[in-house]
Amino acid sequence: SAAETLIEVKDLASGYGKIGVLHGVSLAIGKGEVVALLGPNGAGKTTLLRTISGLLPASDGTIRLDGRDVRGSDARAMVRAGVAHVIEGHRVFTQLSVTDNLLLAGYYLPRAERAARIEEALEYFPEIAAKRHEKGAALSGGQQQMLAVAQGLVQRPRLLMLDEPSAGLSPILVDRVLNVLGRLASAGTAVLLVEQLIEKALATANRVYALTQGRIVFEASTSEPDIVAQLEHAYLGGK
Ligand code: ATP
Repeated sequence: SAAETLIEVKDLASGYGKIGVLHGVSLAIGKGEVVALLGPNGAGKTTLLRTISGLLPASDGTIRLDGRDVRGSDARAMVRAGVAHVIEGHRVFTQLSVTDNLLLAGYYLPRAERAARIEEALEYFPEIAAKRHEKGAALSGGQQQMLAVAQGLVQRPRLLMLDEPSAGLSPILVDRVLNVLGRLASAGTAVLLVEQLIEKALATANRVYALTQGRIVFEASTSEPDIVAQLEHAYLGGK
């Protein structure tokens, strides 16, 4: 049964100044679906996340959230619309406590609402909940990455986008971070995951898109038996 579509991107183009990076990108993510976005370095994965989250303007195409056209909304408006973006290499504030880092992520919320959402986010990460009064500097690299994801969760996103959450983490920590995505999806959140670790991304996601040179060249369910071979073929074919 196909999930109800949360976000639909159609014929999206964007880039930096006169440099076009994305060329007619179309994809859709259902409510409660985890979608992996894979592709070689420089393919435009980060650019796509930045365009969806309103950090970069699109030069063409549409972005619909629940059928509503949100293209042209700035980053703040996208957060309010329910789109959270955990950027690659995001660094938490090491001189601030875990709680203060989470308070900052929910700066735009009324105080009581913010407190409730911080508790909700911490439920996903017991080990950082236990360190809530400690400074960010007291967390391990993996725990800092968990805090970065928790900051996204404070926004109670309908779409959570993560850019290489595994960067710099040991395999066990990667699993712990990726594990949370399945739980979020079960609760109805849509997830878009950019990841260099193909096998782990495929094990986490329901569906996968491959992007090469700013174009979607492949889309499939991750349950297809020869999915890795298909992906490799798509990468090579797109070069
Ligand atoms: P990676 O896995 O290396 O992060 P990616 O798929 O996320 O790659 P992008 O970071 O989106 O790719 O980069 C796509 C293209 O846009 C690349 O050619 C890159 O050099 C270019 N690019 C990225 N950021 C900028 C920028 N700020 N100004 C100009 N060009 C940029």
